[in-house]
Amino acid sequence: MRLTLFSLSLLVFQLMAVPTWSLEASMDIEIEDAKIRRMHDELGIPANYAEQSGLPAQAPPLSLVSVGKDMYGREQRLAPQAADAWRQMQEAAKRDGMIVLLVSAFRPPELQASLLQRKLDRGESIEQALRAVAAPGHSEHQSGHAIDVSCAGCPVLEAEFERTKTFRWLMQHAESFGFSLSYPRDNPHGIMYEPWHWYHTPQDAP
Ligand SMILES: [Zn+2]
Repeated sequence: MRLTLFSLSLLVFQLMAVPTWSLEASMDIEIEDAKIRRMHDELGIPANYAEQSGLPAQAPPLSLVSVGKDMYGREQRLAPQAADAWRQMQEAAKRDGMIVLLVSAFRPPELQASLLQRKLDRGESIEQALRAVAAPGHSEHQSGHAIDVSCAGCPVLEAEFERTKTFRWLMQHAESFGFSLSYPRDNPHGIMYEPWHWYHTPQDAP
């Protein structure tokens, strides 16, 4: 009887120490990791990619909210905090006479993989393709905290975007909304200069 009680209390202790939700969460992470590894294998992404690029693995967002349509009329989503910051920044730019347009926001790893595959299909090497598109699992777009932007009549996803009034406004003001330019010229990640790509740094709840 004493032994049974002991076993029972041990079991209760174990159940308390490892809550079911954390088991489920870690299983989800393992499934996600295996999926991303398979995508890397299929695309021929070098095994030392993470180490060489210094681009951390991005956790998928816990939730996503709509931020309306992008400049191509596609529905876009961001993590709630980034969505609020984006709306505030877009409003502030508008007050200063600038319409900032969304080109891309949240992208799941599957879309990231298909963007890379499209480049490979056009004859680029994987090394070339990775200079423009981060590997699945490592793109800031996967976090729901990154946006690609442009403006009406402005170059889209081209370095010349830096010559626009909108880019100069972003360089002056984006930081106050929590956004920063992830890939300036000669960045250590080996990603080409992307004046259109801005990352919202998540803030811990107060
Ligand atoms: Zn981007």
